[in-house]
Order: sequence, then C-alpha cells, then structure tokens
Amino acid sequence: MDKVVIIGGGLGGLFTGALLSKEGCKVTVLEKNQQIGGGLQTFYRKGIGFETGMHLLGGIRKGGSIYKLCNYLGIMDKITLRDVDHDCMDQITYLSDSKTYRVPEGKENFIAYFQQEFPEEAEGIRAYVEALYGIVDEIDFFYLRSEDTHVYSHREEFMWPADKFVAHYIRNQKLRDILSYMNPMFGGYEDHTPTYIHALINVLYINGPSRFVGNSQQMAEALKNLIEANGGKVIGGDPVVRINIEDRMLKAVYTQRGEVYVADKYVAAIHPAALLELTDSKAFPKAYRNRINEAPNSYSSFCVYVIFKPEAFPYINHTCYYQDNYGMVWHYDKYDSNTFPRGFMYMTPCENGQGTYASKMIINSIMPFSVCEKWADTTTGHRPKEYETWKREHIEKVLDKMELLHPGFRNKCEMVFASSPLTIRDFYNEPEGALYGLHKDCNNIAESQVSVYTKVHNLYMTGQNVNLHGFCGVPLTAINTAEAIVGLHTIVDKINGYNHED
Ligand SMILES: Cc1cc2nc3c(=O)[nH]c(=O)nc-3n(C[C@H](O)[C@H](O)[C@H](O)COP(=O)(O)OP(=O)(O)OC[C@H]3O[C@@H](n4cnc5c(N)ncnc54)[C@H](O)[C@@H]3O)c2cc1C
Repeated sequence: MDKVVIIGGGLGGLFTGALLSKEGCKVTVLEKNQQIGGGLQTFYRKGIGFETGMHLLGGIRKGGSIYKLCNYLGIMDKITLRDVDHDCMDQITYLSDSKTYRVPEGKENFIAYFQQEFPEEAEGIRAYVEALYGIVDEIDFFYLRSEDTHVYSHREEFMWPADKFVAHYIRNQKLRDILSYMNPMFGGYEDHTPTYIHALINVLYINGPSRFVGNSQQMAEALKNLIEANGGKVIGGDPVVRINIEDRMLKAVYTQRGEVYVADKYVAAIHPAALLELTDSKAFPKAYRNRINEAPNSYSSFCVYVIFKPEAFPYINHTCYYQDNYGMVWHYDKYDSNTFPRGFMYMTPCENGQGTYASKMIINSIMPFSVCEKWADTTTGHRPKEYETWKREHIEKVLDKMELLHPGFRNKCEMVFASSPLTIRDFYNEPEGALYGLHKDCNNIAESQVSVYTKVHNLYMTGQNVNLHGFCGVPLTAINTAEAIVGLHTIVDKINGYNHED
C-alpha cells in the first residue's frame, strides 16, 4: 500500500490521515506546531482550556454526515459532545432596538419562530427555508452520496450572491438581516458570497449544533491515536520548510529539524499560498502563483478570552450573537476604530462536569487583516509595545459592549486577554489570519478555491480551501482527498455501509 506524507496536522490533515491509514496506507503527518490539531487545538491559561478554532459543531448529531464519518473511524466514543439548547440554539441581540431573538433548532421550529416574530412574512419565510434545504439537497457531498454532480449543474439560485437570495424571499429589512446572522460563521460578503455556502452553513446549524465538552483537542488526539494504531506517525513541532519537485512528481519533503521524508503520495493540508512558499518549481507557473497569492482571503477575527471569577457568570448552553444595529451583517469586513466592535459572537464553552456557572468565555469580533498590517513583519512573542497597547484598547472596546449586554461584566472577570488576526496568521500559517481560507466568490468560483488534484501528479490538496471550511466541510473534503488516492467512491460506500449496519 502507498506511503503517504501529509503536510499539516490540522483538521484536514488528521482526517485525511485517519482515512488513509484505515485503508492500509502508511501515513506520516507533519505538523509545524508542537501541539497538533490546527483548528482543533486547545491552549491553556491558568489551567483553563480554550478552543482555538472549533466552537460550534455541525453535522455530528446522530445521522449527520460527520457523525457517520466519525462512527466509521471508530472515534465517536473517544470524544465528548453536548447539544446546545434545543429551544434556543442561537441568541441574537440588537442594541439599536433592544431586541433579542432566541432561535430554536429544527427546520419546522425555525420557520414557526420567525413566522411568529414576523407574521406578515410567513409565506416568504417558509419559501426561504425550503429553498435553503432544496439547495443543500443538491449537494451530494453534504449527504455522503457518491454522485458526481458539479457546482455548475445546479439551480440558478445556487450561485446567486447570498444577500440577494435572502432579499428575494424576504421584504422586511430587519428580517433579512436577522436571517443572515450566521454570516460570521462563513465570512459572508455582500454581492460575493455564493448562496450555496449560506445554505450549507444555515442548514447545518438549523439541524442542530453541538459543542465539545472539555476541549476540542480530544478530537485531534483521537485521530492521532487512530493513525498511530494503524502504523502511522503524527509528528508535531517540525514545520515543513521545502518540498522537492522534479518532472511534476514530488520527490521529498524537508523539515526545519533537517528531516527528509520520502513517500509515494503527498497531501498538502495547508493554505495553497503556504504550499507555494515551499517550492519554486515550474510545475506551479507564475500565472497560478499570482492567482493564489492575489486571491482574496476571508476576513479574520479579534478574539477575546475571559477567565471568570468563581460563580460569577452563568454558563450559557448556546452561542450568543450581538450587533449594534441592523444593516451591518454583510459588511463585517469594514472596520472603524471608533465603532469597533459593531458586532460579535460570544460563548461560554462547556467544561467537563459543567455546572451552573461558566469558568470562561470566548468573544470573537470580525476584523480585517489590514487593521494590524503595520505589524505584519513581526511574529508571536516578538511584537512591539505599541501592538500590545493597541490590543489592550481593543479588549476594552469589546468589554464596553459586554457591559451593555451584561452589566457588571468587568467585575466578574479574573483574567482577560486576546488574540488578533496576526496571531491567527502565525498560529495556523494562514495568510492574513483568514478564518476560513480563500474567500469564496460567486462571481468567480473557480478562482476562489482549489482542487484536490494539483499539477504535481502525486501531490493532493485537502483542507478548507477545497470545497467548504469548518468542522463539517473539512472532514468531508478529507474523504474526497483520500478517495483521490485510494479510488473514487470506495470510502463513501464503506462509510454508508458501516452506518447502515450500525
Ligand atoms: C478563531 C476561529 C474560530 C473558528 N470557529 C469555528 C467554529 O466554531 N466552527 C467551525 O466549524 N469552524 C470554525 N473555524 C474554522 C475552522 O477552524 C477551519 O475551517 C478548520 O480548522 C480548517 O481546517 P484545515 O485543516 O484546512 O486547517 P487547520 O485546521 O488550520 O490546519 C492546518 C495545519 O497546518 C499546519 N501547517 C501550516 N503550515 C505548515 C508547514 N509548513 N508545515 C507543517 N504544518 C503546517 C498548521 O499549523 C495547522 O495545524 C474557526 C476558525 C478560527 C480561526
């Protein structure tokens, strides 16, 4: 069986490695960070664990595609999860009219809730939600169906800009805005983000989100253990610094520690721009390099982390979204230091043995990379004092808004610290600290994502820049990548067969 080296031990690299190792491939995963996991990684302050990039999980409830995949891999009993509140999966608060919406999960509940809030839009709301589900039903990939449909062979709405799609069904401006509240979960831009991305993310969460109990690292460790049990290796703390390509074949991978890895097949589970930095091979011509290096990335985030004083702040079993006003949700890429943050999402992640009170909170405010571009030449741990001051000021801006939502908030906090788009860039080696990789654009979809196949015959791509990002999109793409190596439809059929018997 093939020897496979995977560059990047994040969500995509580990899922691809797990699938290939189960197929009998001899897998080696190389991760630059000491701790593996990428978006699954958990870091600790004062003994409290914080997830870095995996707070809201879709598709992992029984019957969901990620549940089926994890069940097939035998890792479902190695991870502990919790449903968010069924009657309120998300809470959206607008400061401008002091209105809070408590959105229930489940297609019919979701429709009924908004029909009750906006009775004059009842017909449009049903038609909108039916269209969301209809669009997603056309995506075989999402339902683990081994068909070969292409993004261009869908209904016209599929590639409409998502904001126009919402406006097509809904007349009320406020409701248009509210129904777009999940934008930060996929980096939606007005006139650009394709409807199918909006539909996938919405359907995923309307069907019922989950969260990790304890931390997200448990999933990375479960995947690593599986790869190792199948005879593979997962090596952290050794970045790949160069790859050698000859005659459109990748010959070897070189790491910072001076190790050389040779395999039959290779998978790049990193941003395509990061891959291009590893080689000057003519296999990737100048035009391709320009395209990748100039392609817009999704926006980034300023993340505030809070450790609460004991028994000071209640545990909230769902995500909360905050917005100053209506009309901003498609414009999060615009930053103004006077008004920052105009909106954010916050959550109290779940601990083992979670009680009534929260020990921590994560607050994510969308922020374009350009805001901290002046420190782009600096790296983590070596940033100037001016940057630290800027960060502190922005923490205070976020806390000011939290005070409006939860009076006395500052007094409940024992420790508050933050990460910026620069942190995300350096931590994941993700250009511009993009939350979701390349920004998908309905005006130019072919140019805003990459294929599983590359110009190098034995090099494949996986991760959030192929198909869809996130906890659902990346593992599903891992199936595509693994199948490109071991044979089309082989793995999907096994996953479905296994779950059918289960
Ligand atoms: C702040 C934040 C919050 C998020 N919240 C959610 C959420 O709640 N739900 C959700 O579904 N998605 C969320 N996401 C998105 C999700 O984390 C990503 O879509 C997902 O992790 C992408 O998987 P990936 O494998 O493509 O990349 P990653 O998980 O980033 O993995 C890439 C890995 O490659 C490694 N690497 C890079 N270069 C090299 C090199 N040269 N050599 C070796 N290793 C290298 C990196 O260190 C990293 O570990 C969030 C992202 C961020 C940043």
